[in-house]
Amino acid sequence: MRAWAVERPGPVEREPLRLVGRAVPEPGSGELLVHVRACGVCRTDLHVAEGDLPVHRAGVTPGHEVVGVVAGLGPEVRGWEVGERVGVAWLRHTDGTCRYCVHGAENLCPSSEYTGWDADGGYAEYTTVPADFAYRLPAEVDDIALAPLLCAGIIGYRALLRTSLPPGGRLGLYGFGGSAHLCAQVALAQGATVHVLTRGEDSRRLALDLGCASAGGPYDPPPEPLDGAILFAPAGDLVPVALRALDRGGVLAVAGIHLSDVPALRYESELFYEKELRSVTSNTRENGREFLGLVARYGVRATTHAYPLAQAQRALGDLKAGRFDGAAVLVNDG
Ligand SMILES: [Zn+2]
Ligand SMILES: [Zn+2]
Repeated sequence: MRAWAVERPGPVEREPLRLVGRAVPEPGSGELLVHVRACGVCRTDLHVAEGDLPVHRAGVTPGHEVVGVVAGLGPEVRGWEVGERVGVAWLRHTDGTCRYCVHGAENLCPSSEYTGWDADGGYAEYTTVPADFAYRLPAEVDDIALAPLLCAGIIGYRALLRTSLPPGGRLGLYGFGGSAHLCAQVALAQGATVHVLTRGEDSRRLALDLGCASAGGPYDPPPEPLDGAILFAPAGDLVPVALRALDRGGVLAVAGIHLSDVPALRYESELFYEKELRSVTSNTRENGREFLGLVARYGVRATTHAYPLAQAQRALGDLKAGRFDGAAVLVNDG
């Protein structure tokens, strides 16, 4: 089969990935073999390719927004059948026994492992996933539209939960890529007023088309104070900007796994009045199942740009350069 490997992590312009021929993987105990139909291109893949997130395994295949079909069952798998549609996401292993796992915070498990970082992911014709971490998918949504929901969507949803936005609250979204445009749809469906603060005319237009109340530049003040904000752009210098935009008691959640350094904060204008700064670390399986359940109900749809599997590197370059709005998806045409 064809698979992309992170060969020499570095700037995507220097082509850190290589398309290689590999044997179709054998599913281990408790694992599903998945024939990949579509795999979303997440910013985390770019961080892995460029070395911002050092690979956990040399030559790893990136990709953790996989929509596919079960093509084989490892020993000890129950509840899945060959031919079923399946989703593979970022979180793929937790120990289930540590103090975080037993308190419902498996996203913080120190033994956690991730698809496309610790284990080969979906930039390939086949991949494997532990059955306990595989998702059942809503039948109403097609493969390409569904792929970005599996990380961008789920993480955006957890980030929204992390803002503790009150009903009908005012939400600011800093950056408006794959994750943000999905998060916006959930927030709007739940009655929030959403303000988008981002570069890029296309992204602002998409925000307004989706029903957001305003779309301005990332350093502009929003038209009204915010009860909650989510920083999707990996730019630490926006942290004080977003904190200043919060109303008293507001919460800023930082959604990215990688963020450039945050400048020194001014206590009085940026943290006082019980403003809160929170990070978002991965997600629990419960977050994922809950979000995928809302997808059909709210009609959440990803704006996608399809690329053939062979053009993964170009897709990552286009993501880095901001050449599209919404999310890129690799389509396995093999
Ligand atoms: Zn654990
Ligand atoms: Zn991701």
